[in-house]
Amino acid sequence: MKAVLLTGIGELAVDDVAEPVIQEEGQVLLRVDAVGVCGSDVHYYKEGKIGSEAVKYPFIIGHECAATVKEVGRAVRRVKVGDKVVIEPAISCGSCSQCRAGRENTCRRLKFLGCPGQIEGCLCEYIVMPEANCYVSEKLTEGQAVLCEPLAIAVYAVKQAKVSENSDVAILGAGPIGLSVLLCSGLKTEKIYATDRVKERIEAAKQNGALWAGNPDREDVVGQILKLRPVGVDVVFECAGEQETIEEAIEILKPGGKLMLIGIPEQEKIHLDIHKMRRKEITIVNVRRQNDCTQRAIDLISERLVNVDFMLTHRFNPEQTPQAFEMVGGYRDGVIKAVIEF
Ligand SMILES: [Zn+2]
Ligand SMILES: [Zn+2]
Repeated sequence: MKAVLLTGIGELAVDDVAEPVIQEEGQVLLRVDAVGVCGSDVHYYKEGKIGSEAVKYPFIIGHECAATVKEVGRAVRRVKVGDKVVIEPAISCGSCSQCRAGRENTCRRLKFLGCPGQIEGCLCEYIVMPEANCYVSEKLTEGQAVLCEPLAIAVYAVKQAKVSENSDVAILGAGPIGLSVLLCSGLKTEKIYATDRVKERIEAAKQNGALWAGNPDREDVVGQILKLRPVGVDVVFECAGEQETIEEAIEILKPGGKLMLIGIPEQEKIHLDIHKMRRKEITIVNVRRQNDCTQRAIDLISERLVNVDFMLTHRFNPEQTPQAFEMVGGYRDGVIKAVIEF
């Protein structure tokens, strides 16, 4: 089958590799329809690692996947050949102490699609997944199915933050995750402020529910948000993974506020202004992907409670994957979500 292999830093190559086969009764063979290019994939492409998760070449990355069921194992009951499915990329063991505590997203034996040292990803024609990771999504377009992965993370983050109708919310970084958080927060509150450096993302935030959106290169975003909300905001979703946005978050949060860390920093360590944080008694919550939110993401789209279509800005074929990664990595051409179609 055709696969896009990561072969070195900044190197992607299309090659022929063996097609995977069903090995357990509960598994499903899937024909990959489309794969979203995620910020985490770009980290593996540009830096060869995220923290201690380093790529051993060659390796197939990719985890935002829309697929069609091609073959099912003997014990598979819920999905059938021909079904269009959204893939939940995290395979948890179901039996470790984290899984038993309902924390499958931090499973001690987690295998995540396209995560180095775990399992290869979905930038290829076929993958095999457990039935439990396949969510039937007949009403969704291919692009919507791909966007369920970042949307599920937003569903989880907004739930963890306990956003209510009285909450003032700031979203720092309005890429696909930040914009998905905007859509999910918008189901609860209208008081949402967003920032980004990319003009098209600021526009997208304004058009999709942000009361105010601004660019830190052009204006004092901390001053602007505090002008609109002098007492500070209740929740900040940090979706950029930058030292700068974490510092802004600490400035704009009200005492007792919550800092939700979702962005993935390039560097190993981040500095925190501990005295400002402790005086305000700020709670830091790390968001590790998502936990059991894929079905909710599918429902939000199919019941038209959120519209994610504006995020799908670019489509590529597998041979054009390097261009897609360069575009996403360089924030070029107004890209929000680029999708590779197989
Ligand atoms: Zn992703
Ligand atoms: Zn587990």
